[in-house]
Order: sequence, then C-alpha cells, then structure tokens
Amino acid sequence: MREFDYIIIGGGCAGLSIAYELEINEKLKDKTLAIIEPRKEYKKDKTWSFWKVAEHNFDDCVKKSWENFSINIPKKTNHLECKIYPYQSIDSGLFYEKINNKLKENKNIFYFKDLSEINSKNSFIFNSVPSIKKDHRNLWQHFCGVEVETQNNFFDDEIFNLMDFDCDQRESVHFFYTLPYSKNTALIETTWLSKMNDGSQKDYDSQIKDYIEKRLNLRNYKITYKEEGAIPLFYPTYEKERNKINIGTAGGMTRLSTGYTFLNIQQHSKYICQNIENISNAKKFEISKKYQFLDDIFLRVLDKNPEMMPDIFFKMFKSSPKTVIKFMSNKSNFFEDLSIILKMPKLTFVKALFY
Ligand SMILES: Cc1cc2nc3c(=O)[nH]c(=O)nc-3n(C[C@H](O)[C@H](O)[C@H](O)COP(=O)(O)OP(=O)(O)OC[C@H]3O[C@@H](n4cnc5c(N)ncnc54)[C@H](O)[C@@H]3O)c2cc1C
Repeated sequence: MREFDYIIIGGGCAGLSIAYELEINEKLKDKTLAIIEPRKEYKKDKTWSFWKVAEHNFDDCVKKSWENFSINIPKKTNHLECKIYPYQSIDSGLFYEKINNKLKENKNIFYFKDLSEINSKNSFIFNSVPSIKKDHRNLWQHFCGVEVETQNNFFDDEIFNLMDFDCDQRESVHFFYTLPYSKNTALIETTWLSKMNDGSQKDYDSQIKDYIEKRLNLRNYKITYKEEGAIPLFYPTYEKERNKINIGTAGGMTRLSTGYTFLNIQQHSKYICQNIENISNAKKFEISKKYQFLDDIFLRVLDKNPEMMPDIFFKMFKSSPKTVIKFMSNKSNFFEDLSIILKMPKLTFVKALFY
C-alpha cells in the first residue's frame, strides 16, 4: 500500500486550511500528502462567521462583512460598532472550491475516502475527526439556520444581530442570530446552549418559522438554504502521539464560551506550516490557558444559572465593543479581561469556582 509523508484525516475546514497553507508556502514541493475525506462532493454546508482580529487566506470567500451589530434582551437593545474588527461571514462553498482548485495543481496531493486504503505507519498525521464520548453533563451549542429571500426589501444589511434573547428559553439558553446579506436576503439562526440530552429543543423549523413570522413580522419569504450543527463546548478526548496531532474541533480550536473556531483553525494552520520541518517536536498549539480557565467558570455559571445568561451577555457588551470582541477572539490583555470580569455578577461567578 502507498505511503505518504503527511496524512490529513478529514478534508473539512481544518484539514483543507492546513493543506492550503502548506501548498501556498511551497511545503509540498517534495513531500507527499494524502487527504482522507469520505464526502462524495463538496458543496456549501456551513457559514463561518467571526470578527476579523487577524489576517487569514480567505478574504475572497467572504460573503458579507459588517461594521455594526446589535444584541438584545426583552425590552432592551444595544447597538454597537465594530469598524476596527469587522464581522465577516465566509461561504464554505467558495472556501472548498478555492482550496480544492489550488490543491489540484500539485501532483503530490492525493485524495482517499478511507484511511484503510493507504499505509499510515510512517506518516505524520493531522487528524480532524474528533473522538467524543457521550456524557450527559456536556454542554453543546446546537443550532439551525436558514437563508431566506424576500420579495421586497426588508432587512437593514448595514447591521447584524448577534443575539436576540427575546424568545422562549425553556430553562436553557436560547437566542436568535440574524445576518442580513442584503436588503432581501438573510441567514436566520436559532441557537441553544444546552446539554442536548433529549430532542425537545430540536423543533428548529417551527422555532424559525415563528421567529420570522411573529417576531420579525415577515410573511412573504422563501427559504433558499438550511444548515444545522452542534459544536461541543468541551474538549474532545486527545491522546498525545509522536506522529499525530489533532486539528480543528478535534484539536481544541473551539473557544468554549462562544463556539468560535474558524479563525483559531487559521492561526493553527499557520503555526503548523511554520513548524512543519520539525512538527513532531513542536510545542502543542492551544487556546491560552487564561481563556480555558475563564471559559470553564463561565460555562459552570451557564450550566447552573441559564436564566441569568441573557442579562450576563447583555452586560458583557456594556464594555467597549473593541474590548469584548478582543476577549471573545482570544486577543484581550489583562486590563481588558478585568473590564469584562467586573461586568459579571461577582457572587455567582465566585460560587461557580466551587461547583
Ligand atoms: C453548521 C456549522 C456552522 C458553524 N459556524 C461557525 C461560525 O460561524 N464561526 C466559527 O468560528 N465556527 C463555526 N462552526 C464551528 C467550526 O468552525 C466548524 O465546525 C468547522 O467546520 C470545524 O472544522 P473541522 O475541520 O474541525 O471540522 P469539519 O469542517 O467538520 O471537518 C471534518 C471533516 O472530516 C470528515 N470526516 C468525518 N468522518 C471522517 C472519517 N471517519 N475519516 C475521515 N474524514 C472524516 C468530514 O466529512 C469533514 O469534512 C460551525 C459549525 C457548524 C457545524
């Protein structure tokens, strides 16, 4: 069976990002790479959004960028500006197309459907397939979004809504998220932070229909695309091996308090590329321990006091938007962290240390 210098298990966001980074930096000129990906075809299946706090390779896959956003709880709305760090939405269809077109140019890159088709004994492996053990205590961010098209202009495409908590909470944390791509198209998502132990919150279609028709008061629309997902708000199991590193969600690239992963994957890809010649000995790339600690407390509070979370999120955005964005994107300094921490209900957070 054929052998390769590198193997990427999973040609999704992380796998393809790393392959692209290696390719454009000419690290695959005299090395072979096998990408293991079972999907039959690549088509748009996700929309990746984030505040652009760092450079990445995919500005040409950005569907829309915003400099203003809002967050609201019942009877209160906060309008905020994010000119310094615009919020970008990447179309996964464009991302897959761009990367696969580039990788096709290199005759050292091969695709397989299953790892058993090749000999992996002597290769260095980048694995993006997470190992998730079922545990009813684990929290998830689970969601469903639809792209809608209206006949007449309806949306204000200058501003997106990050979180609308003015909805049914069902003893969990629930909000809607609206990204208006144009005056007559938008992505509208229902998002839950919960343990997902039963399917009772998964009546996504009726939640979205109610929100669009009763809350947004929009009647004349059609659904043109749908996406659904669940992001683990815990780190998948990770076994250290000399010839293998985990990447993407499997590699702990999700910021647990927010679910944001895309930009961390891009930074991890750059790190791998910079260290590729000595990758077996490179230090593990991870989201800083500071955020791991703070997110752990935040999720404990969320778990025990879901009813407090709309207010907590709303208060968090009372800090300057620049500070909150930097905090949510792992770029804040000590004083910025402090300014966020001081906005939190102190007793609740101190108690969470002892749960
Ligand atoms: C619908 C959705 C929307 C999201 N939106 C955002 C967002 O807005 N912002 C953000 O920062 N993050 C977002 N995320 C979180 C995260 O960025 C994505 O999940 C991202 O795709 C993670 O990249 P990955 O490479 O780890 O996983 P994936 O992109 O899922 O890639 C894993 C790949 O492995 C393949 N695979 C599966 N089983 C095997 C196997 N046995 N062998 C080989 N290959 C296998 C899959 O087909 C897939 O292509 C979203 C997640 C989802 C699901």
